[in-house]
Amino acid sequence: MKRNLIATHIQAMEGYVPGEQPRVADVVKLNTNENPYPPSPAVARALAAFDPATLRRYPDPMAKALRARIAEIHGTTPDHVFAGNGSDEVLALATRCFVPDGGAVGCFQPTYSLYPVLAKIRNVRCVETPLGDDFGWRTPPPEFRPDLFFLTNPNAPTGIRYPEEIVRAFADAFDGVVLVDEAYADFSDGNCMALATREGNGNVIVSRTLSKSFSLAGLRFGYCVGPVDLIDALYKAKDSYNLDAVTQALALAALNDLDYMRANVERIRASRKELAAALAERGWKAADSQTNFLLARPPDGDAAAIFERLRARHVYVRYFPAPPTTEYLRITIGTPEENARLLAALDI
Ligand code: PMP
Repeated sequence: MKRNLIATHIQAMEGYVPGEQPRVADVVKLNTNENPYPPSPAVARALAAFDPATLRRYPDPMAKALRARIAEIHGTTPDHVFAGNGSDEVLALATRCFVPDGGAVGCFQPTYSLYPVLAKIRNVRCVETPLGDDFGWRTPPPEFRPDLFFLTNPNAPTGIRYPEEIVRAFADAFDGVVLVDEAYADFSDGNCMALATREGNGNVIVSRTLSKSFSLAGLRFGYCVGPVDLIDALYKAKDSYNLDAVTQALALAALNDLDYMRANVERIRASRKELAAALAERGWKAADSQTNFLLARPPDGDAAAIFERLRARHVYVRYFPAPPTTEYLRITIGTPEENARLLAALDI
């Protein structure tokens, strides 16, 4: 009989389940926090100008042009920047580089559901700190000593932002690496980038993505900023050519047009306010979101039934059935037309 060829810890785990990507036309897709607007026209121009003949050569393994631009945006130097294949790659590499065998990853609960999966792939524990019913900040207990803490800020799926002073105090008292996952920071009133660019041997890395505010989820580009020794470790552990040449060219075009991104963010923030008010009028409760989605509780708390009803009407939102989000739906902010269709489907 053939022996089981799969490592025991991989056999034992479930993989990450991404949000549904319905391929049928005319759906209102508010389930994976994508941006409802297209990327910058500069991205289309860069794609049209891209010469396929250059693909016979390997891409720049160190993504120097991109790192220089990212460093310029955040007022730091390129040696503080790691460029990755989506911010998911940054998170996975962090579990490879900063968690020893027998170590542990930490995070809040609820938070981005990829973190416990990454811990399982790395074959280490994931220690979760439950957030209370208000989903607000909870300082992890002192006996809690993971090697790497994933701190989503603003948090997902709650949308709540933790102020920089709180994050700084937590990081200063923590002896592992704090990875502040700022996938949604462009939609928020503040961020923790200053903690990653501080002088000295810090322990804070801040990750960002082009998937949300820059409308480029299909491109797969994310990055992080942090202390040089930690960034060097990520470079040692990455795939040799983690970023293809097309991605590097298009990501650079997007990062050279911040005004376009910011204008879209403003539209989404305005729609967020309108949608939150429209849901509140219908008796829904939602925390103050600093992201491009709302985590909202319908008046009767029967989120599962509403999820199915919306789906039957081709409106896709996200439902996380496990407590403490059993009674909530996570709704991505769409265009004003999409948000109106969501509300119309709720009102039937
Ligand atoms: N962090 C959080 C909190 C997210 O919600 C997501 C998107 N699922 C990511 C990271 C991953 O983003 P990317 O597309 O850059 O891999």
